[in-house]
Amino acid sequence: MASPRSRSARARDVRWRGPLAVLDEMRREPGVTRAAVARRLGLSTGSATEITARLRDLSLLAETPAATAARGRPTTVLTPHPDGPVVIAVDLRQEDWRCAVAPLDGRPEIAETGTHRSRDPEHVIDAVAQVVRRLHRRHGERVRAVSVAIAATVQRGRVVQSAVLGWDAVDLAALAVDPRVPLLIGNDATLAGLAEARQGVAAGATTVLHITVEVGVGGTLVVDGRPVDGATGAGGEFGHLPFGDPDLRCPCGARGCWDLVVDGRAIARHLGDPPPRDPRTYAEQALARASADPAVRTAIGRTASGLAGGLAGLINAMDPAVVTLGGLAESLRAAAEPEFTAALAGGLMRFRRLDPPPVVDAALGGDGALHGAVVIALDHVLTEDGLATWMALRS
Ligand SMILES: [Zn+2]
Repeated sequence: MASPRSRSARARDVRWRGPLAVLDEMRREPGVTRAAVARRLGLSTGSATEITARLRDLSLLAETPAATAARGRPTTVLTPHPDGPVVIAVDLRQEDWRCAVAPLDGRPEIAETGTHRSRDPEHVIDAVAQVVRRLHRRHGERVRAVSVAIAATVQRGRVVQSAVLGWDAVDLAALAVDPRVPLLIGNDATLAGLAEARQGVAAGATTVLHITVEVGVGGTLVVDGRPVDGATGAGGEFGHLPFGDPDLRCPCGARGCWDLVVDGRAIARHLGDPPPRDPRTYAEQALARASADPAVRTAIGRTASGLAGGLAGLINAMDPAVVTLGGLAESLRAAAEPEFTAALAGGLMRFRRLDPPPVVDAALGGDGALHGAVVIALDHVLTEDGLATWMALRS
């Protein structure tokens, strides 16, 4: 039997349904007009006006007159309110970090950036925490979530391992600004894939496989706008599938990991070079001289094959509608298209070769993880609870 409390919660949820739908449209298409939103949501002009007025009163959106087409009715453009909620997003990478602030349309604006003086976790976290606190002081209670994309394996919202940063389990709690403001932490490749599926090149596709190569390979499967990340959130570690050489031991502790045959370490091995200290830079330098040096071109071809062969296995297993490639995966394919294509076709099951999913370059490039961090933060803010909290703060 429903308790009175759950009845009131249900009434509240119904009350927020229209406003949330309007805010979601603003997020889906920054700069959208009220008339377009009304049309898409099937709202009468009166309801659309009423809902946007209410959202304006709550400092959730602002309206500015739209340049109307000759025969169109006058309408307004919906934009985030200048005093409305914001989220702080952090992108913590191998060499550097970036902090951004995003309003409700989900467009992050970079506030501060820095390079790691040392990769010692204490130094890195302290440097970022100072910036996050500064941004929190500047925006005060408008900050409704802090969201971190990190080049690390994340389990139950905690960093458990990062080969790229050389970290074991590390506590990021110092980045929290207030007990009432959630700190959200996600793997960078997972968040980049989420961003591609929600607002990037794969927007609108129901099942998206994202693959990115930096040092090793990461990615995610996104189904209906949510990453499939397992029971504890640590799923999607595609780089540690045994698509590699069983004689090679991976820093993760396993043998035969795919990671070792797709990046700068693989190119160096094929060329007989020692393992590079910075495999990302090594790979970029090799890609730059591939056209002039046949041996380098061959090594890149073998590496592109290693990537595409594993990708074929993932496509067989997961049946994505679209595959998006980020980071060095794009460059490897571009530099060795014949090898990539042959290895992909060779690894696909026969029935799939007739109608393989499109494999497209990511649209958000190096900003994917940052955008993904904003996506999960706004998913948290733009809920019945999130809006009720915001209303309570303002009363
Ligand atoms: Zn591994």
